Amino acid sequence: QVRTRFAPSPTGFLHVGGARTALYSWAFARHFGGTFVLRIEDTDLERSTPEAVQAILDGMKWLGLDHDEGPFYQMQRMDRYREVVAQMLAAGTAYHCYSSPEEVQAMRDKATAAGEKPRYDGTWRPEEGKTLPAIPADRKPVVRFKNPLDGDVTWNDVVKGTITIANKELDDLVIARPDGTPTYNFCVAVDDWDMKITHVLRGDDHVNNTPRQINILRAIGAELPQYGHLPMILGSDGVKLSKRHGAVSVMEYPAQGYLPEAMLNYLARLGWSHGDDELFSMQQFCEWFNLESLTASPAQFNYDKLAWVNNHWIKQSDNTRLAELVTPKLLADGGKLEGAPALPLVLALLKDRTNTINELADAAMLFYRQPNPDAALMTQHYTDAVKPAVADFAARIATVEWTKEAIAAMIKEVLAAHGLKMPQLAMPLRLMVAGQLQTPAIDAVLQLFGRDTVAARLAKFA
Ligand code: GLU
Repeated sequence: QVRTRFAPSPTGFLHVGGARTALYSWAFARHFGGTFVLRIEDTDLERSTPEAVQAILDGMKWLGLDHDEGPFYQMQRMDRYREVVAQMLAAGTAYHCYSSPEEVQAMRDKATAAGEKPRYDGTWRPEEGKTLPAIPADRKPVVRFKNPLDGDVTWNDVVKGTITIANKELDDLVIARPDGTPTYNFCVAVDDWDMKITHVLRGDDHVNNTPRQINILRAIGAELPQYGHLPMILGSDGVKLSKRHGAVSVMEYPAQGYLPEAMLNYLARLGWSHGDDELFSMQQFCEWFNLESLTASPAQFNYDKLAWVNNHWIKQSDNTRLAELVTPKLLADGGKLEGAPALPLVLALLKDRTNTINELADAAMLFYRQPNPDAALMTQHYTDAVKPAVADFAARIATVEWTKEAIAAMIKEVLAAHGLKMPQLAMPLRLMVAGQLQTPAIDAVLQLFGRDTVAARLAKFA
């Protein structure tokens, strides 16, 4: 039974790196019909906020990364951590340490001066036949983990391969503070144990925590999960992705007009590959996803490629759904939907060429506002030479069948009758009806506007 988890610290928004970690953990659970757990690591009271929790939940929801268990909150599990601390003290895998912070600092300085790694010197570590110092009055102890002194911690990282850390590199970690509150690595180990996590995928900024967590898990008799540490995401300049490069918060993407399936598709490929496949659904991804194809080298976030992927998913998308996404943006920009062409039909015409919902809204705008063609452009394109052709066109509007094909045929006839070329007629028609020179094919645009609107708008000029 595969059990994975996403364990964000709620100290900001859900960023794209976190979303990718969540996506892989989710897909791995889905691949095996396993369980995906959401755990909020909110023990850093100074930095955790309810807004950040909400931002994470919102981001996960927008992406559709549904969890099967949770969200669990570490702050609600304090009794459980205290219980395990007590058990470890009783079992002798942890001990009380009464050294003051100043004393510990002095030990660390001494080690540094001797050219060693700064570490606690084991004053309070109980050993066979060792007499511990007298307990200082009025001092509350911390609880330290009795880390093995010798040997190595080795794990076969599913992304990075075998990693080995010598135990003598690891300190006797404080697992509970003087007030009894547990510390970070300890909580993660207890949670992964209690939640029966089989596979831990997370950012490689956690590689240094893993041997500590493994030692704690061993001490409490837990089975070890498999670990995979994903390389960080870089910007186009090869430096860790940050705001400088563009949007890094997942929820900025819907605001900019990206579809969740595009974001997921893009993130899926950012650190994992399946041959040359670039465009695939999440159903397909869950079928394909495997740990062997995770990439060990850092990937660069490419906003152009994301836009290309988004364009693909916009093209695949149902026009009614696109209309729902476009409508609020159109209205916010002052668009008027009443008496105008149906938005799904307009989007069907425009969507091949747009990379985002926002671009789509901008492109659709010409159908939802009153045209106000630039006077200079009118002078340039509505010349005396083309006026009779426009009048001829206007005169035929009432009689022609209002289909794209019939309109196209009618335009050809008018061009032939007046010895003009397509742009000579299409440009003034565009200006008068749509208010701008850039539009999709003139026959399709006129058809969408409808006979009455086209006639009324031409009448203002002709
Ligand atoms: N809470 C950690 C973070 O947000 C992740 C811990 C983990 O996955 O083990 O970076």
